[in-house]
Amino acid sequence: SSYSGLSILSPESLFLGFHKYVLFKANMRILVTGGAGFIGSHLVDRLMQNEKNEVIVADNYFTGSKDNLKQWIGHPRFELIRHDVTEPLLVEVDQIYHLACPASPIFYKYNPVKTIKTNVMGTLNMLGLAKRVGARILLTSTSEVYGDPLVHPQTEEYWGNVNPIGVRSCYDEGKRVAETLMFDYHRQHGIEQCSLIKFLLSQNGEPTTEIRIARIFNTYGPRMNIDDGRVVSNFIAQAIRDEPLTVQLPGTQTRSFCYVSDMVDGLIRLMEGNDTGPINIGNPGEFTMLELAENVKELINPDVKIMTVENTPDDPRQRKPDITKAKELLGWEPKIKLRDGLPFMEEDFRQRLGVPKKA
Ligand code: NAD
Ligand code: UDP
Ligand code: UDP
Repeated sequence: SSYSGLSILSPESLFLGFHKYVLFKANMRILVTGGAGFIGSHLVDRLMQNEKNEVIVADNYFTGSKDNLKQWIGHPRFELIRHDVTEPLLVEVDQIYHLACPASPIFYKYNPVKTIKTNVMGTLNMLGLAKRVGARILLTSTSEVYGDPLVHPQTEEYWGNVNPIGVRSCYDEGKRVAETLMFDYHRQHGIEQCSLIKFLLSQNGEPTTEIRIARIFNTYGPRMNIDDGRVVSNFIAQAIRDEPLTVQLPGTQTRSFCYVSDMVDGLIRLMEGNDTGPINIGNPGEFTMLELAENVKELINPDVKIMTVENTPDDPRQRKPDITKAKELLGWEPKIKLRDGLPFMEEDFRQRLGVPKKA
């Protein structure tokens, strides 16, 4: 972005920033909250490939792990901070990818109050930071904001059908508030957050906190927590361990699964593009959980059994993104089909579980 280096507010640093900007193209300093997690660590890998990027990860390791970032620890353009986003954070950055939040139902239900705090106070703090330093901030929201949707497939205009007091509410209502905060900062904190130069440089003369909202649909790939209870990780681990695949009833409920490299590509395009969103990022290929089980069985272990088990409350019955907006505004669409992505994940899970493929 043309603003890099200009995002610090004191007169000296403003001068230095301007100087840096004029004399040579400055490095982009990027904060990734939740960068030790599944999607975050793949995003970091991609951002680190660009030599102009310096990446700071802030993570409390609740569901993430340093192991996911081990290839970058010690790298001169990389920094890892143990930090809980519910506490204020003081760093100087140009962009913030705000991912910190447990994403799997068993983890976000484990301490629902903490999940709410992470979504509300965590997002508030990152917005306060974005405002102070003039950084652009991207929130990874979720398809869960549509709840148990009455519109299918889901477009961004749909307001959702969400239970405010259910066991999933800490997550889906939490993300809805996070989206609200993003737009309120965007509308309310215009001029105040902008340096004079940034104001002068802004094309339309109406600067606002620069926000981006991605509504992420179910994502899968290497580095998912093996026992986090999500359906793809469960089925693959079960198939590898020769345990029955547990299809939760009724089994006809649907999800649409996006491979993680496609997801990361979409997030970066959204950050770099001109549209605030919210924009759905997901793969529109829709499968029932029974179909998913059958695919996993066929690809990974044809001898494995498929069994049905009880479901949890408020489970959405169908989910599929309408990605017209992502196609038009970001020129993005997923490239990797479910049946092509599953084997990459199988390979990663086999390595971590120490179970090689039978000859
Ligand atoms: P993940 O659990 O692997 O990663 C989340 C990361 O956030 C972890 O490293 C965790 O330690 C960290 N974290 C949690 N609470 C924190 C806190 N209070 N302070 C600092 N760090 C904290 O999950 P993921 O699948 O990589 O999801 C990343 C983001 O994408 C989340 O915001 C999630 O809501 C969103 N999302 C994911 C999916 C999906 O299918 N994976 C779907 C929709 C939305
Ligand atoms: N904040 C932060 N880092 C910063 C600036 C602010 O973590 O660099 C936090 C701050 O502690 C506050 C939140 O972000 O809790 C919102 O900040 P803002 O300035 O918008 O509101 P205020 O401090 O006036 O409540
Ligand atoms: N599911 C399943 N078996 C499992 C875990 C989940 O059939 O072992 C189902 C679950 O009922 C839901 C779907 O898979 O309908 C997706 O669940 P997941 O927890 O992966 O994600 P989310 O509900 O957040 O989309």
